[in-house]
Amino acid sequence: MTLDYLKSSKHWLVCHCGNEPHINGFYACLEDGTLVEPDIHGPWDGHLYLCMGCGAIYDAESFEQKGQIGAAALAAQAASF
Ligand SMILES: [Zn+2]
Repeated sequence: MTLDYLKSSKHWLVCHCGNEPHINGFYACLEDGTLVEPDIHGPWDGHLYLCMGCGAIYDAESFEQKGQIGAAALAAQAASF
């Protein structure tokens, strides 16, 4: 699964779940879906984003889905944010 960025006429990310940046948003995360500050000097690799609509983890450079966290884990991340 990939983001619909290239196929979309919109100039922003659209997840297969329908989420867009102005709806639930996408946030910088680690490989396990843990949200992190998008600080280049921090643990974030600068590529991965968590879809706050469905828990899909995307590489923002290739637009490929790299992972998926479950609903409970997504709720926990949303609550910690
Ligand atoms: Zn999604």
